[in-house]
Amino acid sequence: MKLVTQIGLSITTLSPLLLSKGPPAGNLIETLDFIPGNTVRGLLAKKYMAKGGKPKDDIFRRLFLFGETCFGFASINGSQTIPLSARSCKYNSGFIEDDEHGVIDIFLSDKKEKRCINKDCNYPVDYFQGFWNPTTGSKETVRKHLITRTAIDSIRGSASYGQLYSQRVIDESQTFVSVIEVPEDLKSNLKSLLSDHFTAYIGKGCSRGQGWVEVKEAEPPAFLFEGTLKERFERFNNDKGQPLLAVTLLSDAIFYDEYLRDCTAPDVSHLEPLGINIKENEWKLKHYRAFASQRLVYGFDGKPLQLPRQPRLSVTAGSVFLFEPENGINPTVPDGNGIGWIGDNNMEGFGHAVLWHPFHYQYQ
Ligand SMILES: [Zn+2]
Repeated sequence: MKLVTQIGLSITTLSPLLLSKGPPAGNLIETLDFIPGNTVRGLLAKKYMAKGGKPKDDIFRRLFLFGETCFGFASINGSQTIPLSARSCKYNSGFIEDDEHGVIDIFLSDKKEKRCINKDCNYPVDYFQGFWNPTTGSKETVRKHLITRTAIDSIRGSASYGQLYSQRVIDESQTFVSVIEVPEDLKSNLKSLLSDHFTAYIGKGCSRGQGWVEVKEAEPPAFLFEGTLKERFERFNNDKGQPLLAVTLLSDAIFYDEYLRDCTAPDVSHLEPLGINIKENEWKLKHYRAFASQRLVYGFDGKPLQLPRQPRLSVTAGSVFLFEPENGINPTVPDGNGIGWIGDNNMEGFGHAVLWHPFHYQYQ
């Protein structure tokens, strides 16, 4: 097995940041609330060149092109996306650690109506989305604001008719942390790019001063998944008639089927990198329960192509899928920690996933 090491990277916004969520259509552009791995990769590739490196270098190709290095999405303060199966009080939503009414996970529950878990409240529950810190059990929020601008008519010198537009941007002074998984023998090469902190610009509107960020090495956020994979499997499947396989996406993921069409959910064959034995057919191929959402991923290729990339369908971070075993089979629990990369474009941070995430039984 290839030895990889994790390097943390912190990106702090020095000015408003816009990472466009969709194609530039309409007069409102929304920003993503994380920094995609592809942006992290581009940032460091540019730094490599600025230090005198060349794209033909063997090191450059291994770091940025061959898929040996995975550049994870940078999330606010290194947090995780809250699984889409989470629900909280309709009126005082949030974690108990934040002095709110508490969170429940309905991934494994029956279809009965759920009420707030605060004894004095008992109001209905609602969706609960965003980011959380698994170590402290509290919510993380990305602060954003709306900027409205107008184009200037060069002849009249005043606001141009019909060209008002708005952009929702990430506020300055917020830190996003990415984890980069790099082969052990390339560790020193990557670290040398981060030997001193530097500023760079990412996203849209750099000419107006938007998108300036400070980049430096940081401690990679550790996922405190207590116990072994087997223990998580047992706690998840506690008092169930049959064991179930749960997979939770920690980042957006791209899956395609045998005809290379993008699909909206992984099947069991996509889970092989997490250690699931797909040769023995222990699990049914298709999931039987899911909480999932999708988004289209747009991109633009730089030189020499300078063309929009083919939009891809991605299943978003926080999506969860549940699989049943084949009839009469008692499936084996894989070795390892059950955390890894599945689907396509892992190099750009897509497809970070975990089996039997503790969130599902801790908040049950
Ligand atoms: Zn409540």
